[in-house]
Amino acid sequence: MNIDALPAKRNRDGAFFGFTRSLCPSCRKVVDAHIVFRDAQVWMQKKCAAHGFFETVISSDIDYYVRSLNYTKPGTLPYAFATKVEHGCPLDCGLCEDHLQHTCSPIFEINDKCDLTCPICIVRNQQGYSISEQDFRQGVDRLIAKEGELATIFLSGGEPTLHPQFFDFVDYCLRGPHRGRIKRVLISTHGKKLARDRRFAERFKASGAYASLQFDTLKPGVYPKLRGVELIDQKMAAIEVIRELDIPTVLVPTISKGDNSDELGDLINFGVELPQCSSIVIQPMAHTGDGGDGFHATPAGHRLTMPEVHALIERGTGWLKQQHFHPVPCSHPSCYTATYLFRMNDGRYLPLPDFVDVRQYLDAMANRAIIRTDSGLERMILDSITNLWSATKVGEDSEVILASLKTFLKDTFNSRNPLSAAEIEQRTETRSKAIFIHAFMDAWDLDVARLKKCCTHYVMPDGRLMPGCSYNNLYRHKDPRFFPLAEPVSPAPVRFAEGEGRSDNADRPGKVRLPVLSGS
Ligand code: SF4
Ligand code: SF4
Ligand code: SF4
Ligand SMILES: [Zn+2]
Repeated sequence: MNIDALPAKRNRDGAFFGFTRSLCPSCRKVVDAHIVFRDAQVWMQKKCAAHGFFETVISSDIDYYVRSLNYTKPGTLPYAFATKVEHGCPLDCGLCEDHLQHTCSPIFEINDKCDLTCPICIVRNQQGYSISEQDFRQGVDRLIAKEGELATIFLSGGEPTLHPQFFDFVDYCLRGPHRGRIKRVLISTHGKKLARDRRFAERFKASGAYASLQFDTLKPGVYPKLRGVELIDQKMAAIEVIRELDIPTVLVPTISKGDNSDELGDLINFGVELPQCSSIVIQPMAHTGDGGDGFHATPAGHRLTMPEVHALIERGTGWLKQQHFHPVPCSHPSCYTATYLFRMNDGRYLPLPDFVDVRQYLDAMANRAIIRTDSGLERMILDSITNLWSATKVGEDSEVILASLKTFLKDTFNSRNPLSAAEIEQRTETRSKAIFIHAFMDAWDLDVARLKKCCTHYVMPDGRLMPGCSYNNLYRHKDPRFFPLAEPVSPAPVRFAEGEGRSDNADRPGKVRLPVLSGS
């Protein structure tokens, strides 16, 4: 008997690596997603029953992607959660009790008013919302009840400096009932008021807030594309005021492939040379929100993945290498990478990973603007001094590094004359700079595995905390503060009753002890 030849079986067009959940970019329904290796890149592939198949590159380098997943450590629980696990991630946000990380970087949006209309803006500024003083205080109080203390809080908008009670809010954070428990207030601003209004800038300096300055380019012609108008003179005027008044500043460039991606090196060099700049936070553009969503018809070909950003930085600076950047393990390793620079006695900044084995000090790589400043920092510096002493192959900078580390150690950790924690932090801050890359997600690459460990949360006045990318992609356009007429989120996350949702429940692993909060 003749057996007919069978047609050849086809292979899948990529090697399966992992499974997760994502969103349909068209209808935002939660859909299953595959992580697949193909053409030396990592792809996310998914299918919506109504809208078909979607795929996008999530990493341009398979090896980097796999290696980066090693950078992980257990998350820390907040003192309490706001929502129950009911519908499955990401439909329970609040934080729900399945969320794997507490709030390192809270963002509090205090208005939706802005005098710019940036084409890439994630917020649809309705020009109608200014948070009330009562809601602001309540939001901060509830955040402190969940976190106890905060290394930073971001006030954002809209343009937060346009809120009439802007300075009252900074005061409440730094000098109100939680005095000492909120270390830094960062203001996410376009910088127009700093540039134009001297009295405002002086008050800003006196308030103790940090400017987190939108700063995308050093060249004319880029702002009109990303921000709708040419802002280069205004930004440089804001920088001059920052220099003159010595306002501590974080520079925040949003990088759009092909628009300003060739400037990464120059932007970093600029921040390193600006004495007031303590860190640079590079945000590869996510196609999210009102403007971002439609900025490119599809993000295909426009997404800058983490390894590409590292390579562009190496090409642009020449002195910072791809291997200087490490995933920040407190969030998911695909969310943040960072490197720290340390100032030498001769004024140069050198990358810390050149003389510190950061893998041994993953705790040092937290999602914050400065290196950890507890006794772990002293241990880390001591170890690097020992390693530099015993190194057989000594680099040309070894002597200056050694001398600089010793000076820092002597000035900062003097057992005969111990400094307060705040003084140690201040000395560390003047001696180091951080460079972060924060890769927000859009509906194309949204990965719930990343969301679950998100540490960057939007603060809701009602006490909920919303993981950044989850809020931006699923909840923002239904937030009744900004869109009172929008249909509510469905299914609605289920809230815990007052007093429930505490993580000191003995049945729950990783329980934490609730602090006694004074003054609130
Ligand atoms: S992102 Fe976090 S808070 Fe939101 S549903 Fe998932 S686990 Fe819960
Ligand atoms: S991105 Fe910022 S500055 Fe631009 S429109 Fe949006 S809120 Fe205003
Ligand atoms: S905001 Fe988005 S990119 Fe940032 S840590 Fe959260 S999930 Fe990750
Ligand atoms: Zn769909």
